[in-house]
Amino acid sequence: MFKLFIGSLIAAAFVFPTFAQDSSVTRYFKELTSANLNFGKRPASTKQEAEAAGVIAKIFDGFDFNAQVQPFTYSLKDKRFESQNIVAQINVDEALPTIVIGAHYDTVPNANGATDNASGSALLLSVAEFAHQHKQKLKYNVVFIAFGAEEVGLQGSKAYVQSLTDNQLKRFSGMINLDTVAGGDTLYVHSASNTAYNCEFLANPSYSNDSTLRDQLLSTAEANKLSHQKHPIEKGFGAGRTGGWSDHRPFACAGIPIAYIEATNFNIHGRQGQDGYSQTTHQHFWQCFDDKAVGPCDKESESKWGEIWHTENDNVKTLEQQLPGRITAQLQQHYQLLTQFLVKEAQ
Ligand SMILES: [Zn+2]
Repeated sequence: MFKLFIGSLIAAAFVFPTFAQDSSVTRYFKELTSANLNFGKRPASTKQEAEAAGVIAKIFDGFDFNAQVQPFTYSLKDKRFESQNIVAQINVDEALPTIVIGAHYDTVPNANGATDNASGSALLLSVAEFAHQHKQKLKYNVVFIAFGAEEVGLQGSKAYVQSLTDNQLKRFSGMINLDTVAGGDTLYVHSASNTAYNCEFLANPSYSNDSTLRDQLLSTAEANKLSHQKHPIEKGFGAGRTGGWSDHRPFACAGIPIAYIEATNFNIHGRQGQDGYSQTTHQHFWQCFDDKAVGPCDKESESKWGEIWHTENDNVKTLEQQLPGRITAQLQQHYQLLTQFLVKEAQ
């Protein structure tokens, strides 16, 4: 009896492996943010941004799905700039639907961008690696895109969508945007705003606020006991919905259902109300946080506002000191969500 019991424990441990596989996302995150690869500050259209693109392209090249560099130019204040997207495609079967999974890799000038968006870039690479290793199990063809120049007006995602014909765009059944997927207190999946985004950059916009893809991801999360949720705030863009400030916007403008995975905290009463701009209640990121009010002790004197992205706090050292283990745990949850979402149901 005792032996049998031990035997079944071993069997149970064998049937439910630990995070061995999921650790690829942690590995990519550590790799990208290591001093060696110098995936540090990498503002749009700088040498550092181009180097980061090279690092990503090289990793994609390890999976045999023909990664392409898509160079593009854009204008800001009458000046011309260059940047690039890296596009890697896995074609499983023409009969299957095709989805886009994208993450930008540039940063604002004053931040190392560990969470915004080395976190999304690492997730993108690890899911691409999974797709490469489990091609026969996938229920989608997938286009993986690392976008350049997001922080200066979504230039990479606009350029990508503008480069396709209407027929090419029609083949996408959805787009999943990974932007700042770690760091904040809660993991969310959003869909596009009820009110149409500004889509003037497209010749023939046809806005989609379809929330099907978000809901499919949320049910996958629930089935796998993951903590992803819909934000509950109705005002602004609607509960479970988001504004057009990241790379999902050009896709929604082209009529494609989008889902946006983000780590923040919509319970906090921030500078402008509950808008998700305050990412954490952790006291290090506030001058003074009032737990009862779920907001600053004093609105007038608060200067930190629980913000990580676009600040000097967005680096691995600070985040590991203040929130040890959080980024890794959150990345593993996303990895499970996306890999479970991409594969056919167990037979
Ligand atoms: Zn970002």
